[in-house]
Amino acid sequence: MIIVMKHGASAADISGVVSQAERVGYRTHLSQGTERTIIGIVGDGRPLESHHFEMLPGVEQVVRILQPFKLASRDFHPLNTLIDVRGVCIGGEKLVIIAGPCAVESRSQILETAQAVKEAGATVLRGGAYKPRSSPYTFQGLGEEGLELLAEARELTGLPIITEVMSPEAVPVVGRYADIFQIGARNMQNYALLQAVGQTRIPVMVKRGMMNTVQEWLMSAEYVLNGGNYEVMLCERGIRTFETATRNTLDINAIPLLKQWTHLPVLGDPSHATGKWDLVAPTARACIAAGADGLIIEVHPDPAAALSDGAQSLKPERFADLVRDIRRLAPAVGRTL
Ligand code: PEP
Ligand code: MN
Repeated sequence: MIIVMKHGASAADISGVVSQAERVGYRTHLSQGTERTIIGIVGDGRPLESHHFEMLPGVEQVVRILQPFKLASRDFHPLNTLIDVRGVCIGGEKLVIIAGPCAVESRSQILETAQAVKEAGATVLRGGAYKPRSSPYTFQGLGEEGLELLAEARELTGLPIITEVMSPEAVPVVGRYADIFQIGARNMQNYALLQAVGQTRIPVMVKRGMMNTVQEWLMSAEYVLNGGNYEVMLCERGIRTFETATRNTLDINAIPLLKQWTHLPVLGDPSHATGKWDLVAPTARACIAAGADGLIIEVHPDPAAALSDGAQSLKPERFADLVRDIRRLAPAVGRTL
């Protein structure tokens, strides 16, 4: 349920609603707009009575949110959420381009890639230090050494870093380095992990599980938001379908649908969605045309030698071409780069 406060409702009116909610055993989340405040009231599923709130001073309207996701819903927060990551705004008019290797492999590989993607126009650096691999016999990532190398690349380029965290126990160590936590597709429904990152105040990117619906995905975002961490973004990275010619199927529909249902920023990952480097640029353009707030792209200086996801990684020159394309496309969809 959300309580829409009257224009100009006082701080005392707002705290009156909050204490009423707490009195009947519910938790509140405030969405402070420029015009008015909306108070989200969430609990344990017991029915909430709207008459508990309707008569309180300053209350304009009590609205039931029919969708099971509440804090992620546009009803709760009508304006787009903007996330500031070391001066890079995610979710605003300016598109965000996240780029870097699938995995941090060595000092020279990450520093070289970081410089190249920065020069090409990327604004955030990606790189996995802990990798969720389908086979236990393949490269699992450099662990904390990889995080240290990412921090060095950030120092060198000024680019904030996003990196995956795979378990609740790893949240403190990854959190010492990451500017954005990445929750990978395989962990989208790891609720203990979602709760753990929800307790931090580090932005979180929740990638879509490969077999999950948009609603299930938003419920995962809801776990993070319910912990009080409101800096959550979503990333469409392709889903499993009957089609085997590409690694996954990019669900382009999900992008404009999410923009209707939620205020959270939405990014596209054409690298994992296609699995093929020569399909990355066209599908990246499609994501932006469909309304995505940005992209996350795998780039490697020598894809043939990459320890993971080489087949879908762009060489730095091709990545630079893609950024040029996106720069030309952006104004057609009311965006800048
Ligand atoms: C990745 O970003 O390298 C990754 C493992 O992505 P996903 O979780 O979407 O498969
Ligand atoms: Mn990858």
